[in-house]
Amino acid sequence: MMAPARIHLDNNATRPVSDAAFEAMLPFLREQGGNPSSIHASGATVRAALESARERIAEAIGGRPYEIAFTSGATESINWALRGTLDAAGGPGRIVTSLVEHSVTLDVVERLRRRGHEVELLPVDAQGILDPQRVAEALERPTTLLSLIWANNETGVLFDVAAIGVIARERGVPFHVDAVQVLDKIPRIASTAPIDLLSWSSHKFAGPKGSGGLWVRRGARLRPLMWGGHQESARRAGTENVPGIVGSAAALVDAQARWQERSAEIRRLRDRLEDALRAGVDDLIVNAADAPRVENTLSVCFRGIEGSAVVLTLSQRGVDCSSGSACTASDPGPSHVLRAMGVDGDWIHGAVRFSLSSDTTEDEIERAARLAIAAWRHVARVG
Ligand code: PLP
Repeated sequence: MMAPARIHLDNNATRPVSDAAFEAMLPFLREQGGNPSSIHASGATVRAALESARERIAEAIGGRPYEIAFTSGATESINWALRGTLDAAGGPGRIVTSLVEHSVTLDVVERLRRRGHEVELLPVDAQGILDPQRVAEALERPTTLLSLIWANNETGVLFDVAAIGVIARERGVPFHVDAVQVLDKIPRIASTAPIDLLSWSSHKFAGPKGSGGLWVRRGARLRPLMWGGHQESARRAGTENVPGIVGSAAALVDAQARWQERSAEIRRLRDRLEDALRAGVDDLIVNAADAPRVENTLSVCFRGIEGSAVVLTLSQRGVDCSSGSACTASDPGPSHVLRAMGVDGDWIHGAVRFSLSSDTTEDEIERAARLAIAAWRHVARVG
């Protein structure tokens, strides 16, 4: 008998490449091997594919093709947005961000602080919500950049980027958004709020790993990331990752369509898992249960046990989930996001995140719920 397929409920960490992305990339790994900067026919064909991918991504995110710079992913894009804006402004600057950002942003701002820039980390409430009024107060002082995560990768909490963007724009403060968890979920995202810079990673929407981008609104001031050639309008020199970019465009168009089709169903499945865990586990809290959340994310805490023990038990039983962000999985400390929300000692080590994709099925959720309850019982019993 064949073993049942693994249930992937760690889609906020990454997704396997979709069929659409795989098919689109294949020719550019083999027969279409030209350098997009070459003037001969092989180069021109590849350049045309690259520019067509740029147009498709621009359309999908609601920007203009020349506003898109391709990068190796969100880590690079976020580094570039933060450091490039400060460099363009010159002198010591001031960055406002929040306590619940992805570790990339927090690491970059901490290093910038050590180099003499001022950093303000805004708090969130017990539901993980950032009050726009708090942003307005922070921006009363001259500020070089506001940078915020759109949807939290651990809890799924959505910040009110539209309201916050209006505040930043009124005060003339450039606004960068880490849109990694929502690029496939909010169509034409860059046009839905007054923002200036927006980062993404393609593997989060079933594109290839090591590929992503930064949307730079026309007129935003940003120092080039890499000097050398003229690629990416001389802002990020180096021969482009053509298979990755072409695959990213195909993945995004496909992922946005799938999400439109299935987001209501995914919310129902996420809520089903949430209800099953509440019913089957004695000591459980659902993090950010009352906050606006992306439909695919469920973060819970089991009392008095290690969330990583539940994750490893579930892994042995065929379910992939996580005890927080994949980027901080090797850090044994409790989640900085839950800490900022005031989750306390008995609970905070018991965090487990389940993140669905538009491919998640009802049967997977039913099985995962049963296995998660059994895993909790096992860990609670054996310690
Ligand atoms: N920002 C958020 C919200 C993320 O979830 C991630 C990935 O986990 C990143 C940034 C960094 O993305 P990457 O590791 O693809 O550069």
